[in-house]
Amino acid sequence: MKFELPALPYALNALEPHISARTLEFHWGKHHAAYIDNLNRLVAGTPLEDDTLEEIVRRADGAVFNNAAQAWNHTFFFYALSPAAKLEPEGRLAEALARDFGSFEQFKSAFAAAGAGLFGAGWTWLSLRGDKLEITTGSNAANPLTSGAAPLLTADVWEHAYYLDYQNRRADFLATLWQVTDWNVVEKRYEGSL
Ligand code: MN
Repeated sequence: MKFELPALPYALNALEPHISARTLEFHWGKHHAAYIDNLNRLVAGTPLEDDTLEEIVRRADGAVFNNAAQAWNHTFFFYALSPAAKLEPEGRLAEALARDFGSFEQFKSAFAAAGAGLFGAGWTWLSLRGDKLEITTGSNAANPLTSGAAPLLTADVWEHAYYLDYQNRRADFLATLWQVTDWNVVEKRYEGSL
């Protein structure tokens, strides 16, 4: 097996009450795991076996892209969450958010509104494109890497991300994510993308 499910950097119940252990059991333990299992099956015996996950996301299409991007996106999503999250950005990222969105609060509102407004399954992203931050949404497995941007933060708005805890209330899930989104992680990604 070339690709492996990354261990979560916290216990399954560590994000409660915002995200339940039951949700993570399914979201990480079943959904994320299935994308990786599918990808391993699809690349077995092909030249893609020698590529990194990011290379496959950038180049593949069809089922290979869907499963590779879902594997990448979920790790990126789960690894920006923490039970001891730094709740506000500082330094150059904080300055860039204020520059491009007016304020951190305005950024959070715009990011959550984008996620709430996405029809169907997909992801909301904060990315660096050139020297500007942008919020985008993408359906299904879409990832900003394929259009040349550097992803910094994502919110999974597939129903499987929130349905057990929030049922149809996607906006409530997006609002609660700010309680567990660790801006230490996002700052490091930003500094690494400059
Ligand atoms: Mn998901």
